[in-house]
Amino acid sequence: MARVFIGPAGVPIGARERKKSAGTLDGIRYTAEVGLSAMEVEFVQGVRMSRDAAAEAGELARGLGVRLSVHAPYFINLCSEDSGKVEASITRLQESLDRGEAMGATVVVFHPAYYGKLGPEGCYNAVKDAVLRVLDWMRESGIRNVKLGLEVMARKGQFGGLEEVFRLVKEINHPQVVAVVDWGHVYARNGGSIDYAQVLNLWREYFGDQPMHTHFTCVKYKNGEWIDEHEPLDTNNPPFEPLAQELGRRDIEITIISETPLLEKDALKMKEMLKKNGNNVIEPTKPSEEE
Ligand SMILES: [Zn+2]
Repeated sequence: MARVFIGPAGVPIGARERKKSAGTLDGIRYTAEVGLSAMEVEFVQGVRMSRDAAAEAGELARGLGVRLSVHAPYFINLCSEDSGKVEASITRLQESLDRGEAMGATVVVFHPAYYGKLGPEGCYNAVKDAVLRVLDWMRESGIRNVKLGLEVMARKGQFGGLEEVFRLVKEINHPQVVAVVDWGHVYARNGGSIDYAQVLNLWREYFGDQPMHTHFTCVKYKNGEWIDEHEPLDTNNPPFEPLAQELGRRDIEITIISETPLLEKDALKMKEMLKKNGNNVIEPTKPSEEE
């Protein structure tokens, strides 16, 4: 059975229903209250959290047994022809990593690049160079814990095929650089199919028993293709249950972030399926268990 941390991408819907202005701290509290043990802090529209606020969020999350991760801004393209855009991308990664380190996050996830004029091979090298630069900066800045996570992407024009990301991460071979599997992206890029066992086997082949950080959402079929538009879990594209089954047969640690439009509501459904299939789903700390 897998050891699973699961929770929403961003502040849960229920926290916002309870308090309109709910922010990260309310989100973490709500996540723990409903029985989820992970939350991804969304910097997707920009890094607008101070270092102190990040540290405060981290402290709260640790006390409640909620594992935090960070999603870096969408506006990142390490293969842009415009060198100014590459530099701005690196700055956004640095800001995200700085806050991620302050909050004790496990990983800062980001969308690496579009192939553009460089094409897949040139882009591979450009992403590698940029990641190595960020690693140098992390060493100089004392960022020693949070990892940089290259996400597997949905669109064919994006850097981020499954094996492409795995190969690059393996080649960089640094404990603070990891691959992030987005199950919905793999499904969309494959034209509407996914073999969970195959993906997990490939992970083991490349990374052994290293813990996985992953995203799960269903995606949409539109104008003859699968696109990266997020859909609720019950649309079943891809279905979650076979993943829960497959994980139940494996000895692995995995974090699953629910990116469906229903966030924590779907995370709770996933949690039930995971438990039904014999997985060890980690619970947050109950207030009564605190001293
Ligand atoms: Zn993403």
